[in-house]
Amino acid sequence: MQKSNQTEAHAPVIWLNTLVFGITFLIAVIGVPLYGLTHGFSGGLWLAFVLTIGFAGISITAGYHRLWSHKTYQANPVLRFLFAIGGALALQNSILHWSSDHREHHKHVDHDDHDPYSASRGFWYSHIGWMLREYQQHRYTNYDNVKDLQQDPIVMWQHRNYLTLTLLTNFGWPILLGVLMGDILGAMLLIGFLRLVVNHHTTFFINSLAHMWGRQPYTDRNSARDNGWLAFLTFGEGYHNYHHIFSADYRNGIRWWQFDPTKWLIKGCSWFGLTWGLKKCSEYQVEKARLDMQFQRLQVAASSKPQHTMEKLHEEYEQLLLKLKEYYLARKKLLDTRAKALRDQMHLPTLEQLQQQVRDLKHAFKAQRRDFRELLESYQRTLTS
Ligand SMILES: [Zn+2]
Ligand SMILES: [Zn+2]
Repeated sequence: MQKSNQTEAHAPVIWLNTLVFGITFLIAVIGVPLYGLTHGFSGGLWLAFVLTIGFAGISITAGYHRLWSHKTYQANPVLRFLFAIGGALALQNSILHWSSDHREHHKHVDHDDHDPYSASRGFWYSHIGWMLREYQQHRYTNYDNVKDLQQDPIVMWQHRNYLTLTLLTNFGWPILLGVLMGDILGAMLLIGFLRLVVNHHTTFFINSLAHMWGRQPYTDRNSARDNGWLAFLTFGEGYHNYHHIFSADYRNGIRWWQFDPTKWLIKGCSWFGLTWGLKKCSEYQVEKARLDMQFQRLQVAASSKPQHTMEKLHEEYEQLLLKLKEYYLARKKLLDTRAKALRDQMHLPTLEQLQQQVRDLKHAFKAQRRDFRELLESYQRTLTS
């Protein structure tokens, strides 16, 4: 990494970005409280502030990220147009550029030179530093990894008109609200500046904090973490450990209780035909990744202990994987048969048998998993004692 540190010191400052980030931040932390104390902001402005944060934020997470960068679902042109406008409002570069960077991030995650916002280079670099100097000048006009997106007329229209759209949305929208609510300066400060700074830094947390703070239940091959607090701030993107291993999935928070409004929006839109082709990773793969991680952690902890201490656990683990596979195979068969029965409008007597078989296998798998977890805990106790 010697080479990158040397070039880094000489990378020219990108003054436009530095000034935009610096000035908007200063106005947000100084101008907004001053105006709030001397004039106050109306309830209407605060409501518009929250809604505008939501619109811009979710355009990035549902649009830039899960739709265009990862193609986890497809969307109607009206929705794509709205995301393109919201993305310009969020001021995070064009869809084409953002997705190109993001695909590099996934491909080379944590690599000091090839991951555009590598978390291995520290908090500051991955959060905002990577945008303040020309570290990757050679990449700025290379869009080879987003050739598919170049077929989307909305993506290319936004890319060509990006500057106009950002000016229109970031100045036009607050000014319009200000005229309607009779407080142009207040609207500019709250919905223009503070809103932009909040949108910026919450998105940037995904590149910085979501690679540093949280749990790694699915993989430790990269630095990405699952963190419910960050999910709350980032419209569900905080389940970043899951996302890095299963990036083709339109969900990031896969449990019903996990906060993922981006997923809810995509799913909700599918009921009205606005989105379709929602991709999900197989539950078998997800469960297997989780069990593999638990087992691997214990193996590392036990590596200093005599061989025989792990044998029982190994056997139990093999059994568990077998039961997991049996259960998901039977479930798939049931789903396929049910779909066939629906399609052909006929009643299949085997359907009930299959349902019973799936229930039995599910119980067997859960019982085995309970045993395995108990065994894991008892091993952990012996290892730490
Ligand atoms: Zn991603
Ligand atoms: Zn990441």
